[in-house]
Amino acid sequence: MRNNPISATIDFDKEGIQHGFLRLPYSSDESAWGAIMIPITQFKNGDGPTALMTGGNHGDEYEGPVALFNFAGRPQIDDIQGRVIIIPAMNYPAFQQARRVSPIDRLNLNRIFPGRPDGSTTEVIADYFSRYLVPMSDYVLDIHSGGKTLDFVPFSASHILDDKHQQKLCEEAAKAFGAPYRVQMLEIDASGLYDTQVEESGKVFVTTELGGAGTTSPESVGIARRGVDNFLIHAGILKGELHLPETETVSLDMPDFRSYLFSEHNGLVEPCVSLGDSVREGQVMARIHNIERTAVPTCEYRAPRDGMVIARHVPSLAKIGDCLYVIGEVL
Ligand SMILES: [Zn+2]
Repeated sequence: MRNNPISATIDFDKEGIQHGFLRLPYSSDESAWGAIMIPITQFKNGDGPTALMTGGNHGDEYEGPVALFNFAGRPQIDDIQGRVIIIPAMNYPAFQQARRVSPIDRLNLNRIFPGRPDGSTTEVIADYFSRYLVPMSDYVLDIHSGGKTLDFVPFSASHILDDKHQQKLCEEAAKAFGAPYRVQMLEIDASGLYDTQVEESGKVFVTTELGGAGTTSPESVGIARRGVDNFLIHAGILKGELHLPETETVSLDMPDFRSYLFSEHNGLVEPCVSLGDSVREGQVMARIHNIERTAVPTCEYRAPRDGMVIARHVPSLAKIGDCLYVIGEVL
């Protein structure tokens, strides 16, 4: 297979703290022999497991980048045993322009794994993770939020896996992350996800949804920063005690696709429930108003199941096909 054109300006075998870039050649009108420079930091101190920590898989989600730019700036390494590789913004072209998908090839990094070494920029980034960074790692944390169009209650998540031992290790790591909520996630479509690529490589993998709406809050950033430390402490890489939330983590399941409520109309959303609310099956969650004329009866959107509202659509104008709500079953 063709070599991946990305080269790292750091040496993954070298001890100590290194700050550098993943350099992806990109020739454009603006820069003939230019490159996309994706920031990367590595801490390596002796033997031990490797943790790979990423944010900005989607470029409009910010808890991960804030927590990881913070962690990358720590001056000390004595309290680390093993290796930590930090990439605060995986899909860097998308992150630079505050977009979910890449402005260069319009691809969603989290839908095209394992990627291609001879593909477009986003496919090349995915391939570099699949063939180089993930195989080097034992523990992988990918920090997501809802982006501009979704907002979530803050949770860490793992998936149901064929390998039950691996599933248990992922669940324990997701619990150690220490978010107020923990979800066993059912994906709308698991193919092409970074998650699936990492899990099929046999790694301990945790993902998150820590907020959204294209911004952060002191609370959501605090959860991300504590979670990064907790994940590394759990992995045995960072010395210290876990900082768990004062109230016990609420565990949620998404047992089937009745967890998702999708819009079948275009129009103006009138929400009837908030994030974190409990709902009963059949309860009205939102009304959608026709915006072309007045006095058209609204369309009522009802809860497909009992549970808790864990995600909501952010823009008040909904389009047909939009995900309006996600409901988790409290365990
Ligand atoms: Zn995301």
